[in-house]
Amino acid sequence: MVSAGGLSDSDRRRYSRHLALPEVGEVGQIRLLNSRVLLVGAGGLGSAAAFYLAAAGVGTLGILDSDTVDESNLQRQILHGADRLGIPKPESARRALLGLNPGIQVDPIEARLSAANVEEIFSGYDIILDASDNFPTRYLINDACVLLKKPNVHGSVYRFEGLATVFDPPRGPCYRCLYPAPPPADLTPSSEETGLLGVLPGVIGLLQAAETLKLLLGAGETLIGRMIHYDALRAEFRTLTLHRNTKCSYCGDGVKFPGFADYEAFCSGRPGPSR
Ligand SMILES: [Zn+2]
Repeated sequence: MVSAGGLSDSDRRRYSRHLALPEVGEVGQIRLLNSRVLLVGAGGLGSAAAFYLAAAGVGTLGILDSDTVDESNLQRQILHGADRLGIPKPESARRALLGLNPGIQVDPIEARLSAANVEEIFSGYDIILDASDNFPTRYLINDACVLLKKPNVHGSVYRFEGLATVFDPPRGPCYRCLYPAPPPADLTPSSEETGLLGVLPGVIGLLQAAETLKLLLGAGETLIGRMIHYDALRAEFRTLTLHRNTKCSYCGDGVKFPGFADYEAFCSGRPGPSR
């Protein structure tokens, strides 16, 4: 914990460009150093976001992933390197991030997020950054964030396009307000099948990092209630306005938390029991 006036000389040099910004300053930098952000996924989105959040001095970064580093990751997942093939991604990320900024703490969490562990894991963090790559995890992150009232900084990428937004009901919609049901499983191929431009998760992951810093600092206008869509081939950014569904099954007015679902079954089109 860094207290007021607690920046070291080294901190003052490292974060001098932040200290020069009235929107950050010493108070803001101390706030960042005392913040805890969880990244779900240490892939392409998580790589870009984690590097810049570490550089910015977000004091504790949780990195959750159940995969190990594979050669096919290196085209876009810049946290990992050819010297760390086969290593669990959270540990690979920890080494990369502490190499950049040894003044922060990195919690490597080698786990698959599930309804059984999500509350315990999320409860230790201020903001959840959704850098996942599949629908069951996105719905699980959403539902847990609604339950625990934590901002969900969301990003996703597909071939040459990506989008970023912040879900923080009731100030804006949740993921389920926009997508009450998942798309049919046969219409959701993985990036392994569809391909993905390597820089794309970098652009979107950095939008997520910027939103995370703004939420922590209370600065500017966030993407709550808005979504940025980026098309790399057209070189176009579009901003869409989003509305909360007051009848949403999770964040709707007067709605009591209905419990976690069986997310694999929900997203495969098979009805599953809630739990
Ligand atoms: Zn909702």
